[in-house]
Amino acid sequence: MSDVRNVIIIGSGPAGYTAALYTARASLKPLVFEGAVTAGGALMNTTEVENFPGFQDGIMGPELMDNMRAQAERFGAELVPDDVVAVDLTGEIKTVTDTAGTVHRAKAVIVATGSQHRKLGLPNEDALSGRGVSWCATCDGFFFKDQDIAVIGGGDTAMEEATFLSRFAKSVTVVHRRDTLRASKAMQERAFADPKISFIWDSEVAEILGDQKLSGLKLRNVKTGELSDLAVTGLFIAIGHDPRTELFKGQLELDEEGYLKVDSPSTRTNIPGVFGAGDVVDHTYRQAITAAGTGCAAALDAERFLAALA
Ligand code: FAD
Repeated sequence: MSDVRNVIIIGSGPAGYTAALYTARASLKPLVFEGAVTAGGALMNTTEVENFPGFQDGIMGPELMDNMRAQAERFGAELVPDDVVAVDLTGEIKTVTDTAGTVHRAKAVIVATGSQHRKLGLPNEDALSGRGVSWCATCDGFFFKDQDIAVIGGGDTAMEEATFLSRFAKSVTVVHRRDTLRASKAMQERAFADPKISFIWDSEVAEILGDQKLSGLKLRNVKTGELSDLAVTGLFIAIGHDPRTELFKGQLELDEEGYLKVDSPSTRTNIPGVFGAGDVVDHTYRQAITAAGTGCAAALDAERFLAALA
């Protein structure tokens, strides 16, 4: 079966490119589906990345991803800027279909499709991403020292972000569209006890204000319809993430939130020869370095799996 690859990698964020680098250096000639519009993953949409080790002065997100891509390509990874639209992972030979309908076959597949942060769906949201609007306090909190910040959401993540940001910020205002939080009791108590954190209940963001940079929010009270302004220079949207696992439903085991389940600390899924890495698995850390780390682990797991077949 000469057209059967050793390994196909689906996804091109830090997890996918790292898996590509490792499998390429192991002479496995990986075929990598990068995605049609979002090759390079989540960091293509950000500006400065200051917490990826090895870059003392930080690095722009797209430049970091270009470097990872080039490094994987240098060792022979075959990179295709296309989406995978169907998979059959159940047999010994797995098949992956691209948008032209071509079926690619491989003995092992690494799934590194990432997750999509939920958006508010407002006009200025994308334009001001990296210019005051963020989805990750761990990534960007440091840029908002002594500033007034709003956090949108009422779950654990929102409380975690608010509590974390209050270390840097002048003030943190949590805006929630209900009058109670969904977050665990412990997280709520921590947030309520924090003197820098205040709450605006029953409210949603009606408008994100600012031209080149965020200057504030227009809020709408969902009960009265009343509009009000909130002057903030930071907006953290913490209303959840959706792992990109639609393709794998019915084949790979997913948890109740739709994340890919792996036999942790390995990257093995419920199907032999299929491995999961990065944010499609991880709802805890969600960092470029942790995605790259599990991408490396998936490559090593795939290498061992293939060696055992030989
Ligand atoms: P992703 O980077 O999401 O990549 C997955 C890729 O898979 C997608 O781009 C897509 O091209 C591809 N894909 C999906 N489905 C398919 C398919 N069917 N076929 C083919 N390809 C597919 N982390 C940090 O450590 N530091 C930061 O400063 C930082 N800043 C951030 C700023 C922003 C705005 C965002 C959104 C995130 C930031 N993060 C940061 C988090 C970090 O980007 C993610 O944790 C990381 O990118 C996850 O990597 P991943 O490889 O798992 O997935």
